[in-house]
Amino acid sequence: MADPYSLDVVVPCYNEEDNLPHTIPVLHDYLAGLLTREDVSLARFRIILVDDGSSDRTWQQIEAFTREIGATGLKLSRNYGHQNAMLAGLSVADADVVLTIDSDLQDDINAVLEMLKAYQSGADLALGVRRSRGEDSFFKKNTAKGYYALMKLMGAQIIPDHADFRLMSQKALKALLAHEETNLFLRGIIPNLGFRAEVIKYDRQTREHGETKYTLRKMLSLAVNGVTSFSAAPLRFVAALGISVFVLSMLLAFWFLMERLFVAKSTVPGWASTVLPLLWLGGLQIFCMGIIGEYVGKIYLEVKRRPRFIIDEEISAADIM
Ligand code: UDP
Ligand code: MG
Repeated sequence: MADPYSLDVVVPCYNEEDNLPHTIPVLHDYLAGLLTREDVSLARFRIILVDDGSSDRTWQQIEAFTREIGATGLKLSRNYGHQNAMLAGLSVADADVVLTIDSDLQDDINAVLEMLKAYQSGADLALGVRRSRGEDSFFKKNTAKGYYALMKLMGAQIIPDHADFRLMSQKALKALLAHEETNLFLRGIIPNLGFRAEVIKYDRQTREHGETKYTLRKMLSLAVNGVTSFSAAPLRFVAALGISVFVLSMLLAFWFLMERLFVAKSTVPGWASTVLPLLWLGGLQIFCMGIIGEYVGKIYLEVKRRPRFIIDEEISAADIM
């Protein structure tokens, strides 16, 4: 049997007033249930609720949870996004094992038991992977599929359908937090830390309360960030494209020249053959500059070394008593 260990559960919350009163008690009761299990050596747990700059009553609810169930509340100074909110929670987590889970509990909490067992048998990472996506919209399912295919094409090693439901040992967490880049792409970095990882499959549930907080804009930003954090393949693609177009145009020029010299056809220069390549090349150039710009922008953001999040307030049960 493993030595008794402690668990910190990090829950990012953004405008979740409709959700938290339903989900947090469920999460708390589930974890409390684990304390009494024979096959789990969990000694104690703490729920860390991170308010990612909500504009509704989320923070007031979190404050109440610190009193009612002894949770820790972390208030960020503004909305920093899901990934950074999670990192903020992780930065204060000091238990032996740390779990991250969305506040809507769309990720099946019953998988936590298996994750803890994976940890007890020596894994440093237990990665939740969605077996099915519940009633996620057609759009969400397919954009996700396309995204994983794109990442694979770009040579980034991420685990399809693994989002941010995962368990990490304190050792893995330290290794993660040693990555200093401002834009930390957790889904890519964590599976590649090199520690022993186990994949835990679960069925994704439907969000019961409130709306998704991942707008199309946030999804796109996560996707672009994932690609540019993990691979220079797009830049290489641009270079290859440039060379190909150049070689092609040389061949074409050669062909036209030969035709002029030997076929002796009086070719009247056509409108289409002048204008179309211009448009084509113009479009291509702008596209390529866009890709390069994406990377340059990333360098710009990284060199500033700005903090990933700013904590405005931290409260725990101890502060209130
Ligand atoms: N979230 C956050 N900051 C944001 C957007 C979302 O902390 O800017 C949280 C949100 O409260 C939830 C989790 O991230 O706990 C996942 O968001 P959501 O359930 O809306 O995403 P989906 O499941 O639709 O991908
Ligand atoms: Mg959700």
